[in-house]
Amino acid sequence: MIPIAKPLIGEEEKQAVMEVLNSGILAQGPRVAAFEEAFARMTGVKYAIATSSGTTALHTALLAHGIGPGDEVITTPFTFIASANSILYAGARPVFVDIDPRTFNIDPGQIDAAITPRTRAIMPVHLFGLMVDMDPIVEIAHKRGLIIIEDACQSHGAEYKRRKAGSFGTGCFSLYPTKNMTSAEGGMITTDDAGIADRCKVIRQHGMRRQYYHDELGFNFRMTDVHAAIGLAQLNKLARFNESRIANAQYLSAHLCGVTTPLVPSDCEHVFHQYTMRVPGGRRDALLSHLKERGVGCGVYYPVPIHRQPFYVQQLGYDLHLPESEQAATEVLSLPVHPALSQNDLETIVATVNEVTGA
Ligand SMILES: *Cc1c(COP(=O)(O)O)cnc(C)c1O
Repeated sequence: MIPIAKPLIGEEEKQAVMEVLNSGILAQGPRVAAFEEAFARMTGVKYAIATSSGTTALHTALLAHGIGPGDEVITTPFTFIASANSILYAGARPVFVDIDPRTFNIDPGQIDAAITPRTRAIMPVHLFGLMVDMDPIVEIAHKRGLIIIEDACQSHGAEYKRRKAGSFGTGCFSLYPTKNMTSAEGGMITTDDAGIADRCKVIRQHGMRRQYYHDELGFNFRMTDVHAAIGLAQLNKLARFNESRIANAQYLSAHLCGVTTPLVPSDCEHVFHQYTMRVPGGRRDALLSHLKERGVGCGVYYPVPIHRQPFYVQQLGYDLHLPESEQAATEVLSLPVHPALSQNDLETIVATVNEVTGA
């Protein structure tokens, strides 16, 4: 069985965790601070704030920018549910804009038409490790006075025109085990804005600036030193992990037949959180069954765009037709691309796919 995802935990992570356990400082302590500093450096920003998950990073970032009831946030429907749900947690309304079928990312050309007097922010999601075309997003945000909150949960270390994901606005990362790097569970917020960094820290810790004085409603969204120790060790390996993902993706794209392989725009460093191809002609589900039968892990990310999710339709009243997202949901299939794959695994994946598509 070749799994679709596999976290690579080595001796460094194990030793780092043991050091924390032996130190007696288990909750948020010196490892969290060190991890934040190193993550900010990797991303090329001034501040990073560690949280308990990618979801709480998004939730905190939205609250830190003062987004709440009556506000609208523009985002993509073709993403993991947490992108849009975090907007709901803040009390605001997600406004969905269709994707560019070539990149699976939000189509910047359709954003202007979705802006209303209630729009406060744009949340581009850098899906599968490929950054959104950011120049037009930055231009629209600047012109219309909107905040940019990047969902970079799948794009640690990814680049657009030599700038990292999470450095264009307020960046939000997930450190869940299947992501490009992990802290078991965890999240990170990145920003150059000292005021936003401060707000995030207060929201993360029960709305508390001075011990047991609470200025506002906060949460417990802290990361522990145990998780930060794992995250720090993983951050040291991120560049190597990403190089390995890129090399694996290049091999797959060079050898797969009869499918549409992922686009890598020349001005982007795609870090392949997922290797997502299109299988046109209604053959996706047959290929999926074949791969599963042969022990090649694969997955559909995502089978239902968020505007079509039962909760969004039945409880929130969304009634939208976004053709590119809906079409993508019927054609996408992701193959293993993670750094734990061997050359033999890659050959097996290619041969097994081509048995069906390479006629
Ligand atoms: C993983 C992910 C999240 C949520 O991160 P968690 O750490 O699982 O809470 C949010 N958005 C996207 C695009 C993700 O892939």
